[in-house]
Formats: sequence, structure tokens, C-alpha cells
Amino acid sequence: MRAPLPRVLLLLFLASILAHAQANPSWRTPIAPFQIADNLYYIGSQELASYLVVTPQGNILINANLATSPPQIRSSVEKLGFRWTDIKILLNSQAHDDHMAGAAQIIRETHAKNMVMDGDVSVVETGAHADFLFPSPNIPTYTPVHVDRVLHDQDTVNLGGVTLTAHKTAGHTRGCTTWTLRAHLPGEPPQTSRNIVIVGGAGFWSEYHFVATPGHPVSYPAIVQDFQHTFAVLQALPCDVFLGAHGGYFDMLTKLERFPKDGPRVFIDPAGYNDFVTDAQKTFERELTRQQAAAAH
Ligand SMILES: [Zn+2]
Repeated sequence: MRAPLPRVLLLLFLASILAHAQANPSWRTPIAPFQIADNLYYIGSQELASYLVVTPQGNILINANLATSPPQIRSSVEKLGFRWTDIKILLNSQAHDDHMAGAAQIIRETHAKNMVMDGDVSVVETGAHADFLFPSPNIPTYTPVHVDRVLHDQDTVNLGGVTLTAHKTAGHTRGCTTWTLRAHLPGEPPQTSRNIVIVGGAGFWSEYHFVATPGHPVSYPAIVQDFQHTFAVLQALPCDVFLGAHGGYFDMLTKLERFPKDGPRVFIDPAGYNDFVTDAQKTFERELTRQQAAAAH
């Protein structure tokens, strides 16, 4: 007879599959695109964020999302009055399928240059087979895409007078990237410019091994140092406008309720940003302590 524990573990396992295997309909539910800053628009779904940075020399897309997402993203771009083929550069928040699986189609259709942070390059070019969690039900594979430019921490991407900075905030993936830019928000005094932060991700799930146990190495060498560095970087970034790879990071749907009245300023939320980072760091440290205690037994 089996003890009841395995069934609990099985349920947790299934819950984690549900959480990460696209079972959540909000990942695919379209929402109307909207403007955040003079040159920045939201073109993602209800939960999977995708951003368009508009410049006089062509546009930058951040996040290709799921393999099924490109038609939704394209329709948002065109609803806003921009041309799909004006996308010159594709960037991403992290190499998981929910931000990268649509890349092959988008690159095929737009010929955008694909720029990826160093730690995620092999994952992107193998369609997630090189992910440190692979094989796992949480790591669906996707069509591999060639990387045209390898980014390193603090590199900038420049197009048409707009500069985006890539901050390597690794741990969730080895090249997880937080993007920042300065921009003016519609409705604010002309001289006002805001620090915009698009958080790449700072979470993990039960498969992540932070502490080696017999027969069970850490997920990848220095994963703990990467997470700790990520929290230090995120704590230090100046943030007025809080955005992220998932709408849930920054309570997008709640903020959008006030959008018709207050406009893009609803996303000015330095306190929400600090809370997000602090909570993510606490969650990580709690799990690290738990794994250390378990390993000591
Ligand atoms: Zn992810």
C-alpha cells in the first residue's frame, strides 16, 4: 500500500503542469491593444505580454509569445495602425515557450533580427531542448530560431533614436532579460520622461534545484547566485512605469479598469514594483532555506 503522500505530490505536479502548460485561457484571450508611452504599445493577450516600440526607422517587438500568438499580435499591431513588416528587431523576456514559441513565424513574416541574451541563446536555437529543465512538461519545445545578435548584460538596442537596455536577470532562465527605457507618457507635461521597466521574470517552480542532494545536482551551476544577482539588479533599477512579461506581474487587468479615465498613468506604480521584487525575493529565499534544510537531513 502506498502512503497518501505520493498522491499529494501528483496533485502538485499536475497543478504545476496546469500552471505552465498553457492551460490558462487568459494566455490566449485577446485584448484590445493600448498605448503606454509615446512610442510604446501593449499588443499581447490578457496575460502574455508583448510590446511594440515604435521608431521612425522601424519597430521593435518584445515577446513573440506562444506558437499560436503571432496572428493575435499581428492583429493588435495593425489595429494600432502600424505595419507588421515594419518590425525590424525581435527581443524577448525569456526563452520559455510562452514568450518565444511564436518567434519562428514572426521572423519568417517580418525578417526581424532576433536578439537574445547570452544565457538563453542555446535554448532559443534548439527550441528549448537546451533548457536546463528539459525534458519537463513545464518546458514545451518550439520551432528553433537563429539568433542574429547575442546580447550581454547592460547591452543596448538602438533603433531610430530609441534606446532599450538589456539587464540580465537570470535564474528563471539563464538569459532572462529585464528591459528598460525612458519615455514620455501621453497626457504628461512635455518635459517629463519616465523610467519604464519590463520585468523578465523572477519566479521558479518545484523542479528548480537550488541545493544539490545525492543524485540530484542543482538545476545549473550558479543558479542561486544568478537569482541573488537578479534581485539586487531589480531592487536597484529606477522604476516609474512597472511592466513585465506577464500581465499578472503588474496587475495589468486591474489597472486597465482605470485606464479609460486615467490613461497610461495607471501604469506608474513604483510601490507595486518594489512589492513585486520584494515578494519574489522572499519567495526565493524561503525556498532556498527549505531546500538547504532538506539537504542537511
Ligand atoms: Zn518562464
